[in-house]
Amino acid sequence: MKLLANAMAFLVFTVLSPNALIGQDFGEFIAIEGDLIALVNVKVIDGTGVPSQTGQTILIEGDKIVSVGPDVSIPENALKVDLEGHTVIPGLIGLHNHSFYTGGRGRSAQLSFSGSRLYLGSGVTTIRTTGARAPYEELNLKDQIDSGQAIGPTMYTTGPYITGEQGSQTMARLSDTGQAQRLVEYWSNEGVSWFKAYTWISREELGAVIQEAHKHGKQVTAHLCSVGYREAVALGIDNLEHGLFANSEYAPTKVPDECPPGFSGSYGDLDMNSEAVQSTFKEMIDNDVSMTSTLVVYEISVAGRPPIDERVYDILAPEIASEVREIAIERRAGQGAIDPQIFAKAMEYERAFVQAGGLLAAGVDPTGYGAAPPGFGDQKNYELLLEAGFSHPEVVQIMSANGAKVLGIDKDVGTIEPGKTADLVVLEGDLEQIGNLHATKFVFKQGVGWDSSKLIESVRGIVGIR
Ligand SMILES: [Zn+2]
Repeated sequence: MKLLANAMAFLVFTVLSPNALIGQDFGEFIAIEGDLIALVNVKVIDGTGVPSQTGQTILIEGDKIVSVGPDVSIPENALKVDLEGHTVIPGLIGLHNHSFYTGGRGRSAQLSFSGSRLYLGSGVTTIRTTGARAPYEELNLKDQIDSGQAIGPTMYTTGPYITGEQGSQTMARLSDTGQAQRLVEYWSNEGVSWFKAYTWISREELGAVIQEAHKHGKQVTAHLCSVGYREAVALGIDNLEHGLFANSEYAPTKVPDECPPGFSGSYGDLDMNSEAVQSTFKEMIDNDVSMTSTLVVYEISVAGRPPIDERVYDILAPEIASEVREIAIERRAGQGAIDPQIFAKAMEYERAFVQAGGLLAAGVDPTGYGAAPPGFGDQKNYELLLEAGFSHPEVVQIMSANGAKVLGIDKDVGTIEPGKTADLVVLEGDLEQIGNLHATKFVFKQGVGWDSSKLIESVRGIVGIR
């Protein structure tokens, strides 16, 4: 379906969209475009957490939503798209959405081409990369997307991972706080938006990273282990990744500045109402520290889970798909498998955090054992957050508005409200009955409606490689 009637007039005679202006012609991937678009007869879950509304019209002018409601008057010259039977939610804001992917047995690859298309095609209109393996590749990709030379979501880039003595070959392994300062200053000047500290960083080094980042107007998140959440909050951190799986502070074996191996295994009886857990939440909330849920990346390792969706294997490069399939079977059966009870606790932890008033966002983290590719993994998080006990409007809010709040862009994106940028996901059917995001049909980014299946088809078979 191509709805380009008055889009053509707009493109020729008025302000050219960046996609048309520079770069390649991506027209084949665009389904709906025009200066004034009315999406009519839709069910809207608007991202604010309120219940869904049926029979809505969303009027989009240029890149902005101008009105939403049951009685929006539709101008004569608007491109009217009747979407009866469809659901519209805000574009997803992925907060742990790397530009690279790891396939399991030591493989890793930048997915600048396939990952970007897969994110957008899956409804993810904004990403924070949350740890870069190749920071310049990310900065260049961001420029290309912004200037219409590549297809992808709006990007908030991150500096290299910053860790202690241990960590992978692409990470900055700190030897002292001076190095922390130097590298944060350097990458801040190069234009990254965030920094990500990693597992083996010490309190002193983390403090230096945070101080220097804040000096440059940047923010810091972390996948922690050697430092507990409350310690990181006291040091001034802005966001914490992976929820319970990365908070070692409840482990009886915890020693300052050391990462107790396999600590989350001891969390089977963790009581969400305990003083320990509630004070973590209180300190995070009092200091505006948000948490990022990445349930999907852990799911591959949880014993007894249902098999990975075939759609995941189908999108991957064949050799990677077979490897991931083997790993999923091995991980769930073998040593090191996550006890289902711990997975349930991690879900409970996230729900309790929100109940306490905490700001929870979500992201895919495509760097585990390969079963959570860009976009598809974000979509799986939707199902896992429902399983965790959140309602549909709450899950939508977590995956859109809350991400926008963490990034400080909630005045502009994250909800379906007049004045916001028209970043929207249109799904076939009633999302609240279907319970997953697989039927994503159109993804609007800045008022341009991309064809989800065409974007996804354009990378089928190469995901995991480039
Ligand atoms: Zn990560």
